[in-house]
Amino acid sequence: MRFRKALAASAMAAAALLALGACAGGGDAAPAPDASSGSEAPTFAAGTTMAKLADAGKIKVGTKFDQPLFGLKGPDGTPVGFDVEVAKIVAKALNIDAGNIEWVETVSANREPFIENGTVDIVVATYTINDKRKEVISFAGPYYIAGQDLLVLEGNPKGITGPEDLKGKPVCSVSGSTSEKNIMEYGVDLITTDTYSNCLEPLRSGKVIAVTTDNVILAGLADQNPGEFMVLDKPFTKEPYGIGLAHDDADFRGFINDVLEESFKDGAWAAAWESTAGKVLSTPQPPALDRY
Ligand code: GLU
Repeated sequence: MRFRKALAASAMAAAALLALGACAGGGDAAPAPDASSGSEAPTFAAGTTMAKLADAGKIKVGTKFDQPLFGLKGPDGTPVGFDVEVAKIVAKALNIDAGNIEWVETVSANREPFIENGTVDIVVATYTINDKRKEVISFAGPYYIAGQDLLVLEGNPKGITGPEDLKGKPVCSVSGSTSEKNIMEYGVDLITTDTYSNCLEPLRSGKVIAVTTDNVILAGLADQNPGEFMVLDKPFTKEPYGIGLAHDDADFRGFINDVLEESFKDGAWAAAWESTAGKVLSTPQPPALDRY
């Protein structure tokens, strides 16, 4: 695929190293960490989710466990990837050490339920912000914008040029994803499973002729299986990735947005990218936050 590594032209490399507390004036209604206390640890208004998590010293984060570059469970059982690093940035702003993050595997279909029933505090899992999901949970972000694409066998033996070529043809995607919903509009013969990695064997065996989801997920899967697959590199949707959290927690949403905004400026977001997805994909610009 053509995701070439490009120069990190960087607004985000700008060294605006403001203390978190110092930038809180521009945020939502999020109580700011108290920078005036003189202590290293931020303090939060009593009763807020930030205070609860900071006091507990731990946070439960839902992420993918089978998506190289974004969230892939490593040999020690801890996931690695860009989503994982973004979650660590949020945890750090709550004064929670990365070692005290409880990683919970989320697949596409259980992300809203896991937030709603408290299985996790936040979800960082290639999670597209959309209005339907916003009816039951809320989103901070976006922190990245992906686009839906197609994965085919290396060399593209079927000569597929885009989703229009897939009408009536077998295609694999994941239930509960925007990818599933979007591809249905093209009249494909859709086979669904619970994770994208489960779509690879059907593609290998010819049971399906394409796998569809976000370009960056497909790029990770192609990279993990050299010489087997290729991404078409013709994205046909926009998928703004957000951090999912409880529906009515506007304070927490504002806080996470402040943390993301700061990470865009102080280099933490760029460093998270470079150490993970940036090993394969070109460096993006940080997107504009949507503080709805
Ligand atoms: N970003 C899309 C979504 O949130 C597809 C990727 C995924 O399923 O995680 O549904």
